[in-house]
Amino acid sequence: MRCPKCADLSDKVVDSRLMPHGDAIRRRRACEACGHRYTTYERVEASPVLVVKKNGQREEFQRDKLLGGLRKALHRRPVSAQACDEFVRNVEQKLSESGAREVSTAELGSFVMEFLRREDHIAYIRYASVYKDIHDIADLLDEVRQLAAEHPEGGKR
Ligand SMILES: [Zn+2]
Repeated sequence: MRCPKCADLSDKVVDSRLMPHGDAIRRRRACEACGHRYTTYERVEASPVLVVKKNGQREEFQRDKLLGGLRKALHRRPVSAQACDEFVRNVEQKLSESGAREVSTAELGSFVMEFLRREDHIAYIRYASVYKDIHDIADLLDEVRQLAAEHPEGGKR
């Protein structure tokens, strides 16, 4: 690594530390020519996962987009921002562990529905009514009845 002070290329690592979440390693380096200390970060080179939309278009996976859809469904519902962040992080982890280069909006949608079904039924119905293209009250009632049958206690919250 080129020393930011004297531009010499010889250095030694004096400390290495794994960052919280384990997604980077921070190294303290000392220039062997002038002794200047500086910090570098090492990360896995991210190969972006592509989201395949219904119309066949592809776009890079964006966590903010996933989180945005989730937050909209959860407007004024008692599910913490932390739980949402955790969910999105789990999805990202699932995607990177699967090694898949692409994921469909349908798969992403089913992850969200699975999460909401567990966390908050009102938000689930909101999300499902958009995502599953529910546009009449009979379909909506079917969905609600199904939820009620699965969770006779009325959901967790
Ligand atoms: Zn130096």
